[in-house]
Amino acid sequence: MDLLSKEDFFSKEMLGILDEALPVAEESVADFYKMSTSRWGRLRYDVKTAALLFDHEHVKGAYAQVMRYVAMPWQCSTSASAFTVYRICLQDKAILQRMREDERLLSLPFLTFILVHELVHVVRFSKHLQLFDASIEARIREELRVQEITDSLARKITIAGMDAVRSFFSDSGGLGVDLF
Ligand SMILES: [Zn+2]
Repeated sequence: MDLLSKEDFFSKEMLGILDEALPVAEESVADFYKMSTSRWGRLRYDVKTAALLFDHEHVKGAYAQVMRYVAMPWQCSTSASAFTVYRICLQDKAILQRMREDERLLSLPFLTFILVHELVHVVRFSKHLQLFDASIEARIREELRVQEITDSLARKITIAGMDAVRSFFSDSGGLGVDLF
């Protein structure tokens, strides 16, 4: 991982916008997959920004990526008690850089779009609609599918600036090289 400076991490203001974006993205994805609040609550995932990522969770050329971990309850060693946890790893530097380069991209719609995309990945993994360990061809197909779903969901989210974000992603062909 390259050395990051203070400007490469979300500011307090950006973290506040992230707090606004997350429930909007969650509601949109839960609604699309017709998941009740309790079913959604059983989906194990967290969202981390760069300051809280491990070295291997940083990735170049993407705005975010999903990691999958198998967790074991404390003092349990049987694999039957293991469960899967997904982590959405936001790449602050890439997100901030892109917004600096393209002033049409406002932080609330931009973050919301990225979160919708990553949450669609998480739900599809959890429903086994997509294997996490897939071939590169399958990953590319999955990205296109997820991008299509994300765009259709984002179209229904009424946040100022979402249209510009949608056209940015459709012109640039998706979320960079996240491939999950
Ligand atoms: Zn993706």
